[in-house]
Amino acid sequence: MSSTHTHSKKSQSLTKNQKIVLNLLQNSGEALKAYSILDSLKKEGLKSPLQIYRALDKLVELGKIHKIESRNSFIVCNNSNCASNTVFAICERCGNVKEIKNSDLSEGVKELVKKNRMNVTRYNLEFFVLCKSCKTN
Ligand SMILES: [Zn+2]
Ligand SMILES: [Zn+2]
Repeated sequence: MSSTHTHSKKSQSLTKNQKIVLNLLQNSGEALKAYSILDSLKKEGLKSPLQIYRALDKLVELGKIHKIESRNSFIVCNNSNCASNTVFAICERCGNVKEIKNSDLSEGVKELVKKNRMNVTRYNLEFFVLCKSCKTN
């Protein structure tokens, strides 16, 4: 454990692995399952699943990507700083995931939880829908 002290604010610079993982998700433009991320990155020389999971966790923490819990997949954040003001609409037919920013909903969730005398630590709102293109088919 390093105990060096720096006064610089928390660096936003990503590690090499984090950059590789983020790049992959950015280029794909859609949600990717964890195993397919592992698969694609094997070709990039990232062989350790643990390294990849660490990079994913960190990117989620930094708000660069989101985890779609119900699918065990990951998607690039298309807002900046959406924190918890975001919901995911997942198409039941094609699996397309759309991120929707909505602070009303997150306020509602906080209120609901508060009424039950609890504190929200984190949550993930996922809706299942038929997306535009699947609806018309
Ligand atoms: Zn987001
Ligand atoms: Zn669809």
